[in-house]
Amino acid sequence: MTFDDAFRRRLLAALAERVIAHADELTALDSAIGDGDHGHNMKRGFEAVRDSLDAFAAMKLPEMLKAVGMKLVSTVGGASGPLYGTLFMALGKALPEQPNRSEFEAAFAQGLAAVKARGKSDVGQKTMLDVLAPALAAFAAGADAPALAAEANRAAEATAPLRATRGRASFLGERSIGHVDPGARSSALMISAICEEWTR
Ligand code: ADP
Ligand code: MG
Repeated sequence: MTFDDAFRRRLLAALAERVIAHADELTALDSAIGDGDHGHNMKRGFEAVRDSLDAFAAMKLPEMLKAVGMKLVSTVGGASGPLYGTLFMALGKALPEQPNRSEFEAAFAQGLAAVKARGKSDVGQKTMLDVLAPALAAFAAGADAPALAAEANRAAEATAPLRATRGRASFLGERSIGHVDPGARSSALMISAICEEWTR
């Protein structure tokens, strides 16, 4: 896999289109256990990314990811904006221009650690971490792209029975049980979009 301009552009476009296309679904999930803005927040951020697609794709992979992260921080808002921004910036900091699989794994681990630090959160609290952590584990265990996407989607669904102890959904206590976490879903959507480009 070579991270040339065309591939970086395709990756970023696929990521943005996937999130934008699922904005209503994310908002519906956030309406159930949050304040109903997650889809709007993410759509606003990824429309801004899409608007700057040419500029971003012209950057080397690390610079592109850092720039996308900063764009998300300044446009998404809510709790998820700084968290996803942190994830992309950490990936950009950790990755070389042409990463191999083990460099990806190391960067993903650093990104996950950065989100945990920023969110003062951990796995099991019904957040995006409940998708990002199992996805990293699957990747580290050698999952190919379809298996990784399947694991991310499974993990998002598996947040439904959890009780939220971080983020807005935690205000609901027991009533957060029975709903998929919106941030877990958006993480699964992004991972699936990346995996589909990776196999093409
Ligand atoms: P807000 O909660 O401020 O309205 P969003 O609706 O955009 O922001 O995002 C909510 C999502 O952010 C949650 O579904 C959850 O996955 C994630 N989230 C919230 N707080 C944290 C945290 N401290 N650590 C990790 N993820 C979090
Ligand atoms: Mg919200």
